[in-house]
Amino acid sequence: MLVVMRHGAAENDIARVVEAIEDMGYEARPMPGHQRTTVGLVGNDGRVDGSRIAALAGVQEVIHVSKPYKQVSREWKAEGTIVPLGGGLTIGGDEVVVMAGPCSVESEPQILAAARAVRESGAAVLRAGAFKPRSSPYSFQGLGLRGLELLARAREETGLLIVTEAMDAEGLVPVAELADIIQIGARNMQNYSLLRRAGRAGKPILLKRGLSATIQELLLSAEYILAEGNPHVILCERGVRGFDTATRNLFDLSAITVVHGLSHLPIVADPSHGTGHRDMVIPMARAAVAAGADGLLVEVHPTPDRALSDGAQSLYPEQFDQMMKESRPIADAIGRKIAEPAGVRA
Ligand code: PEP
Ligand code: MN
Repeated sequence: MLVVMRHGAAENDIARVVEAIEDMGYEARPMPGHQRTTVGLVGNDGRVDGSRIAALAGVQEVIHVSKPYKQVSREWKAEGTIVPLGGGLTIGGDEVVVMAGPCSVESEPQILAAARAVRESGAAVLRAGAFKPRSSPYSFQGLGLRGLELLARAREETGLLIVTEAMDAEGLVPVAELADIIQIGARNMQNYSLLRRAGRAGKPILLKRGLSATIQELLLSAEYILAEGNPHVILCERGVRGFDTATRNLFDLSAITVVHGLSHLPIVADPSHGTGHRDMVIPMARAAVAAGADGLLVEVHPTPDRALSDGAQSLYPEQFDQMMKESRPIADAIGRKIAEPAGVRA
């Protein structure tokens, strides 16, 4: 439920609404706005009787949020959320943020070469996993803490921000310390205890859609993070399990517009995991920008044929450069701009 206060409502009136909500056994979230303050009621699992609140001084109206997710919904907050990422870079506004790099951190020369290449072509954020969720326990599992150190080196040298995955509660601590954005992977989208911890981690969260998750389930998972007090969530469409083996996943472009309709949170597209084949990545990246994605998450490797994970879907640096060049006029055509990397922005 949302309590909309009258324009210019007194602090006292707002305090009385908060008190009444707490008295009813729920939590109150006052949200001061440009025009008026709204007070959100959270902690309910069904419809709440709002008549007592509606009768209080200074209350203009009481709105019942019809969706099962509350704080992530457009009903709760009409204007799009702009998430600050660091170094003046934001996502969710006019700029489309490109996050690029290898699937995994493999070695110092590999991650530095990848970082330099994607920086050179204009990426703003470096992606790479140090903790890797692999289908087989015998596959490369990532460099762990050493991988995080190498990412820090790459950031130092290139100025790129870092997005990297936290796989469990233990890994979340060092990842939250180092990363500018914490990635929660598809396999963990419904790991609710991890989501709650991510909500308390103090960094923006990139939440990937689960392997077979509906959009509603994705939004409910995001709600866990917001419910813990972290409003800085970026959703990610990375394809869902389909029946056709022509692509690794079924890349759901329509999720971008569906999410924009239902939620104020930004959404990025991952055409690498979405398709599984490098030759399909550029066309789908172009399509995602055209569809209004707030960013792209793309795998790029200096030598994809020797990659320890996801080589087949990793772009060669030249292909990434081409992707960037082709994406800029598409962003322009819909009144947006591909975000510049930090050094260029400053
Ligand atoms: C990744 O980004 O490398 C990754 C493991 O992605 P997902 O969780 O979408 O499979
Ligand atoms: Mn990958």
